[in-house]
Amino acid sequence: MSTSRPRATLHTLGCRLNQAETALLADRLRRDGYELVEFGRPTDLLVLNTCSITENAEKDCRYAVRRTLRHSPHAFVAVTGCYAQTGMSILRNLPGIDLIVGTQFKMLLPDYLPAPAALKKRPAPQVFHTKTIGREDFLLPGAGECGTVRAPLKIQDGCNFMCSFCLIPFARGRERSRQADDALREAKELVAKGHREVVLTGVNIGRYEQGGRGLIDLIRRLEGIAGLERIRISSIEPTTIPDELLDYMASSSKLCRYLHVPLQSGDDSILKAMNRRYTVLDYVRLIEKAVKLVPDVGLGTDLLVGFPGEGEKEFANTLRVAEELPFSYFHVFSFSKRPGTAAARLVNQVSPAAIKARTRILSELSRAKRLAFYQRQIGRPVEVLFETKQDDGLWTGLTRNFTKVGVFSDADLTNRLRNVVITGVMDSLAVGHLEPSTGALSQPRLRELHVVAS
Ligand code: SF4
Repeated sequence: MSTSRPRATLHTLGCRLNQAETALLADRLRRDGYELVEFGRPTDLLVLNTCSITENAEKDCRYAVRRTLRHSPHAFVAVTGCYAQTGMSILRNLPGIDLIVGTQFKMLLPDYLPAPAALKKRPAPQVFHTKTIGREDFLLPGAGECGTVRAPLKIQDGCNFMCSFCLIPFARGRERSRQADDALREAKELVAKGHREVVLTGVNIGRYEQGGRGLIDLIRRLEGIAGLERIRISSIEPTTIPDELLDYMASSSKLCRYLHVPLQSGDDSILKAMNRRYTVLDYVRLIEKAVKLVPDVGLGTDLLVGFPGEGEKEFANTLRVAEELPFSYFHVFSFSKRPGTAAARLVNQVSPAAIKARTRILSELSRAKRLAFYQRQIGRPVEVLFETKQDDGLWTGLTRNFTKVGVFSDADLTNRLRNVVITGVMDSLAVGHLEPSTGALSQPRLRELHVVAS
């Protein structure tokens, strides 16, 4: 090893929940004496947190291992995450991997590493993996070392819904929740590290439940943390949003007015085949209620294009709903057969060309809707939590309703909450100017951030 402290790189593929877990693993490795280095730089240890949502999982994983071993041929490679769970038998035959840790033991990965001085490549990987995953509620150690202004806070894992296209219930198991006191403890530590916003993260967080108390109760308790200024819900299933949550969002000073609610399809026959638990009408009513109860709410969704059986008529239904509902953006995903899921066995698959064309149509619509949403805010003062400075000198950050705002400023705005008046829209940004700073808004800076995930 070239430095006195062993170096560790953590690299995340996939979702925000993986990022939250990587952040916790990074915190543990730092406490164990590792120097955290960016992915792509020479290292003694690579921890790769994988995803199995798309069919590129194996390719992405193989690429990350190869890239690391090219500049650090002796690096010890540990692979965990959803692909370590669902693709373990493939991974154990990939060259260069020294340790594979399935979902059940994911957060124990640091315990399975050799002592830093004994980090040596192995002829074959050691494997910690179980077929089934426990259902117990959980505690998590430490506080995420996440390298971003907004800190993900994992509160839930697993899913019981069994949507027919989704591998997550197999990769992460049945639903379970984090003990509330432990989530509060981490949130307090994240605030002590300088974070002002936490993003509540899980697979199906609307199903959070601890001792008969649900998500709203947890949010209420988090709101009591001094110095925590924003709480954001990452993504929430439409069937798990009670009116009470919308009312709470409307009256809360900390819970962001933002809902990302996966729709997936705007056609009832496709929703049924997907094993989603709502009709288009149910969804439309929910969104109408959200708009009515929560002024200025930012609304995002996921759309899955090319599910088997999605013909022109079904796609047209999705397009119509996507146009008519007041979304500020969508994430558009292309259906890919995931072995082991019910949808993989369906016969009437959609051609790649049709999937590509439909994806393009929806992506363009999403862009137009985002611009329209931003334009509606011109002239308004908004509160922005600034994150980074772009190469063109524009500082960017997010409002509570997930509007991305840019301003030019000579000051370092990282992790600053400032009021901005939006004056226009440029590319994918709302742009504006800072309102004069008030003393109350100047806050301590984030502790130096380690960039450990990308
Ligand atoms: S709700 Fe459906 S899509 Fe979401 S994780 Fe559960 S099974 Fe997958």
